[in-house]
Amino acid sequence: MPSWENNVRKVTPYTPGEQPKIRNIIKLNTNENPYPPSPLVKQAIEGIGDDLLRRYPDPASSMLVDAIAGRYGVEPEQVFVGVGSDDVLAMSFLTFFASGREILFPEITYSFYDVWADLFRIPYETKKLDAEFRIVNRDYYGENGGIVFPNPNAPTGVLKRLDEIEEIIARNRDVVVIIDEAYIDFSDGHDGGIPPQSALHLVDRYDNLLVVQTFSKSRSLAGMRIGYAIGSAKLIRYLNDAKYSFNSYTMNQTSIAAGVAAIEDQAYYAECLQKVRDTRKRTQSALAALGFCFHPSQANFLFVTHPDVKAKDLFSALRQAGIIVRYFDKPGIDNYLRITIGTDEEMDALLAFLGDYLKKH
Ligand code: PMP
Repeated sequence: MPSWENNVRKVTPYTPGEQPKIRNIIKLNTNENPYPPSPLVKQAIEGIGDDLLRRYPDPASSMLVDAIAGRYGVEPEQVFVGVGSDDVLAMSFLTFFASGREILFPEITYSFYDVWADLFRIPYETKKLDAEFRIVNRDYYGENGGIVFPNPNAPTGVLKRLDEIEEIIARNRDVVVIIDEAYIDFSDGHDGGIPPQSALHLVDRYDNLLVVQTFSKSRSLAGMRIGYAIGSAKLIRYLNDAKYSFNSYTMNQTSIAAGVAAIEDQAYYAECLQKVRDTRKRTQSALAALGFCFHPSQANFLFVTHPDVKAKDLFSALRQAGIIVRYFDKPGIDNYLRITIGTDEEMDALLAFLGDYLKKH
């Protein structure tokens, strides 16, 4: 190895789900929304004039920050935006997990957390889920350098109740607790306001709580890369200090305009979310009838296993048939498939294939 290589920051990168180039596939592997974004988003993008393209964007993304603040009833000083929630989460790790003590997150969770921790040299400890894939509260009560987990958790889809989350935050007032709510809008009982189990209900009571959400899933804008965090004004100030020390112009003008338009069309998204929830319910019943086992998901995906067939084999057979789902070759979950909720037609095709496959195996 040449000597300069000793000085390289070496990392094992996150592996994103495949974005296949082939057409006519049923893509159920990266939890995208099967429905298009609001028509207002297209209009907003088409309305972007030359001057907006020629100039640098507003480094504070104020229009988008104000729209998000208005939507959730918080002050603009409580909102941070970034290039997808991955960017927001990465910035948050960098900013808030600087104590040198171990941060805590579940053993089975979003597989980017350990990558950011390694990248930023943040020590961490993972905690097991219980047999029902639930996060166990008491595991998060000891000394630590910060806490992060998704709610609903990924890739399990299991939702944690807000009172349990509050207990974790209340017992960890000396560190920052990050709740990654990428999928919270798909949870039941969400009528267009703040979802009942969202930690957004707690941000005004706990200045150590940061709630991270995204436009990629419930607002059908994964291609635009818009994420945000809501928390106390103090937390957001620290995040902005880090961001402005790294890259002032993270959000491009098109994404800002698209995001503002998406916020305006609540009614459209409420309808799409209901469709996804209905399809989820129907797919869960059909999969159970085929013998699949899973814990109830409150996200736009299901995490399933079958007693008679190996997940890895099923994954390959599905791929051959042009249906792409997600398989994680990791201890504890290597006999599971994560299946995104698509349209009713897509799920029918999936279920027809699975029915046939199970007859033959
Ligand atoms: N958190 C979780 C739990 C996710 O599954 C994802 C999607 N891969 C993200 C955050 C990031 O999504 P995005 O950067 O598109 O907002």
